[in-house]
Amino acid sequence: MKFGGTCLGTEDALRRVSRVVKSEKEKKVVTVSAASGVTGSLKEFVASPRQEKEIDDLLLRLKLRHVDLLPKRNGDARKEALEMIEKKITKLDRLLYGVTYTEELTPRTYDLILSAGERLSAVVVAARLSHAGMDSVPMETDALGLVTNNEHFNAVAILGECEKNLGPTLKGAVDKGLIPVVTGFFGVTKNGHVSTFGRSGTDYTASVIAHSVKSGPVEIWKEVDGFMSADPRMVKKAFVIDRLSYEEAAELAYFGAQVLHPRAVQPARLRGINVVIKNLYDAKSPGTIIGNSRATRKDVIKSVSSVPKVATLKVYDTGAGYKSGFLSDITTCLAKEGVNLFSATTSQTCAAVIIDDEDIYAANRAVKSLMGGIGESYEIETGKALVCTVGEGLGSTKGVAARVFKAVASKNVNVELISAGASTVAYHFTVGQKDLKSTVVEIHKEFFGYA
Ligand code: ASP
Ligand code: MG
Repeated sequence: MKFGGTCLGTEDALRRVSRVVKSEKEKKVVTVSAASGVTGSLKEFVASPRQEKEIDDLLLRLKLRHVDLLPKRNGDARKEALEMIEKKITKLDRLLYGVTYTEELTPRTYDLILSAGERLSAVVVAARLSHAGMDSVPMETDALGLVTNNEHFNAVAILGECEKNLGPTLKGAVDKGLIPVVTGFFGVTKNGHVSTFGRSGTDYTASVIAHSVKSGPVEIWKEVDGFMSADPRMVKKAFVIDRLSYEEAAELAYFGAQVLHPRAVQPARLRGINVVIKNLYDAKSPGTIIGNSRATRKDVIKSVSSVPKVATLKVYDTGAGYKSGFLSDITTCLAKEGVNLFSATTSQTCAAVIIDDEDIYAANRAVKSLMGGIGESYEIETGKALVCTVGEGLGSTKGVAARVFKAVASKNVNVELISAGASTVAYHFTVGQKDLKSTVVEIHKEFFGYA
């Protein structure tokens, strides 16, 4: 059972978490994100040089925030938790002083600092569960041995190692009647350094745990009902999708629907374990079930998602079609600058990639260095939006693409870059930002009859 930051932000939310955990009669492991806003405040803090005094202010705020969320009654659960919080704050204090004095922040130290949020919230949640009559202990994923590769901020779990390390410990604890509350968002490299999974990484932690203990389902508790047929801010009558395949969920997670970490289904999928999105504020509603089922709706498309701000980078070379490694040189240099690619297409004279709008400066730097060798010229076009239609039936049903693009054309919208076929469950294309809403609304109408 995974609980995200907004499930841990307030007294009311924490009560609901206790209730939901208690009402689950099966054996269970809990994993938690940092309380809402905490990871963000740590990131922001280390992003610029600081005065010593600012460290004290931040730490005091963090401490009070977490102490405030502890059970109010002065029992053992509260006392132990207070001591643990104190220790974590002291450790963070040393780290932040180190960074302030040396004015140096390595990826390792950065990840170690960011992991503080989950360490604190695990203490709080375990204390709340204990207080509510459940036997609960906080556990930290570096100590447990959730081993990852060396890619800081975007680490990938080494599942075989995790299974060996986490499996016996967690199963042992659960068999004794304990409820482990495991820190989300980070693991540890083989050399013993903390490594984080990127935004919303705790979804991924939950899935890695399920893989390690060979048991499920993975429940992702949030403040929404699940994946939707479109962004409800654009499409008023968008609805919750009851079932998705692993592929559909992964495509949707990449393309805009901020419901799930993009890699979160992968470990669960290897074991055929279902991932279920559940709403903390409506615990009885079934949510979205993600699993093996190939159940396709009659209407083929399950969702129209979007990324509101992207840019296209085009690299021209009249001989591109003959140069081997043209695309790979481009993507490699972008990867080195940390640019996130949504998709790539090539022709004989041009390679085009869709990138995050935030990455245009990094992309410009990267591609400039290629000119002369690979590529004769390049351009970056901003002001684009990405539309993505997802459904298992896309690859196998005739006429779907025609329906999508006819709907778009009826709104007089110009479709720019199209990519289809790489995934059998998703098409995506770019339009101008001003046309995004009408495009999404029109496709929703075409496939579901209303918007
Ligand atoms: N605390 C991390 C974040 O805000 C991880 C998570 O929430 O899952 O991204
Ligand atoms: Mg969070």
